[in-house]
Amino acid sequence: MARNKMLRFTTLEQEYPTKRPAEMRREDFDEIYTAFEPAKASDQASRCEQCGIPFCQIHCPLGNNIPDWLMLTANGRLEEAYAVSSATNNMPEICGRICPQDRLCEGSCVLEQSRHRAVTIGSVEKYITDTAWAEGWVQPKTPAAENGFSVGIIGGGPAGMAAAEQLRAKGYAVHVYDRHDRIGGLLIYGIPGFKLEKYVVERRVKLLQDAGVVFHPNTDVGKTISFADLRAKHDAILVATGVYKARMLSCPGAGLTGVHKALTYLTASNRVGMGDTVADYESGILDAKDKHVVVIGGGDTAMDCVRTAIRQGAKSVKCVYRRDRENMPGSQREVANAVEEGVEFVWMAAPEALLGDADNKVTAVRAIKMHLGVADSSGRQSPQPIEGSQFTMEADLVIEALGFEPEDLPVYFAEPDLAVTRWGTVKTDHKTLMTSIPGVFAAGDIMRGASLVVWAVKDGRDAAERIDQYVTAKAAADKSAPAM
Ligand code: SF4
Repeated sequence: MARNKMLRFTTLEQEYPTKRPAEMRREDFDEIYTAFEPAKASDQASRCEQCGIPFCQIHCPLGNNIPDWLMLTANGRLEEAYAVSSATNNMPEICGRICPQDRLCEGSCVLEQSRHRAVTIGSVEKYITDTAWAEGWVQPKTPAAENGFSVGIIGGGPAGMAAAEQLRAKGYAVHVYDRHDRIGGLLIYGIPGFKLEKYVVERRVKLLQDAGVVFHPNTDVGKTISFADLRAKHDAILVATGVYKARMLSCPGAGLTGVHKALTYLTASNRVGMGDTVADYESGILDAKDKHVVVIGGGDTAMDCVRTAIRQGAKSVKCVYRRDRENMPGSQREVANAVEEGVEFVWMAAPEALLGDADNKVTAVRAIKMHLGVADSSGRQSPQPIEGSQFTMEADLVIEALGFEPEDLPVYFAEPDLAVTRWGTVKTDHKTLMTSIPGVFAAGDIMRGASLVVWAVKDGRDAAERIDQYVTAKAAADKSAPAM
């Protein structure tokens, strides 16, 4: 493979696609980056030094063959670059948009460790795949032949979608059951359009449909259909429900009117963006317009909330987090974007109480300043309150973005044999990815706890492999069993 155009990091500066000005971004929910010009994408890809041990690839959960698709892009061989990129990833253009590359591939790029700055891997990945869609290179993975087996997947988020595509390509009849009216999980209802425009998800869903995957929206397993019935219908089941139960504030005033869970708020905004009528948005309950908004939390969901509130026309938006910027879980890039757009961060502070008026409507957040104490067993310094440091922030809308926990699936599915960990995630065998119930597998957040989309895709792909091994082995064993 030609190497003529690589190693240009010494002469070419790192450059990301143009970011729209913050004052323009605040007015709409469109993605904030413009597309790379072809020459720019090729130039940026050519900065890669083609490491013998590519740390970018090692630190990608999917093990994406990044050096090769950078070299192909640098040499204008985009169709091959897409083939390499899509060989390990079912939705590269989505990962290119929403992966926290600063914590994964780009953060691990050797150029980032030098004065040259990382190769802009995520932007090139997005460019390759958006080009592939435009050129018609993205085609449904229809199987060469049906294999006669079927798999039921509970949950149409990234883990379920990735598993569905892989299994369908192997010839399985694949049915995806989702409690929501649209497929995509958090990709469609959780992540705002300014990070991931919804047509990007919808065209992936259609691609799966075109491959023959059957979707069953508005199907709440455990309510609309029983888990037992589903097991009887399919040769294997994959549980990929994600984790949706919000962690809630426990301080006084947490139940006041005007206090909402992050996902309730984001779902309403995303629905409105897709043309739905949302009563609680129309009435102003879930609309931040002209309000003083306080978001509690420091993860990526909190960043999504603060930036949504800005776009809805909030009077002020504050993000309150109990640690400092260096110790927050969210992407630093997203924090920088939020700051540019007008969000105020209140670091090292935790809510002590939410204050309300005579109608029980929230009016303020009383917080206390924190300092970082000794490190806990995870190595992170625990925040400790500073006595007497209380202060108050005006608030008409308070959003709790404190993370997510699994629902009680054994109860929800009326399946007490489904073993869960002490955190409530579904237990799986590390090798087979099978749960405590034969033929039932788990993938994504419900198996590993709330995590990144890229990990969900990885889990979905791994589960598809193990399901195929299980079904194939079981069929062979059933065939060779002596007739009774
Ligand atoms: Fe290229 Fe950076 Fe990966 Fe090395 S670590 S192969 S320079 S992208």
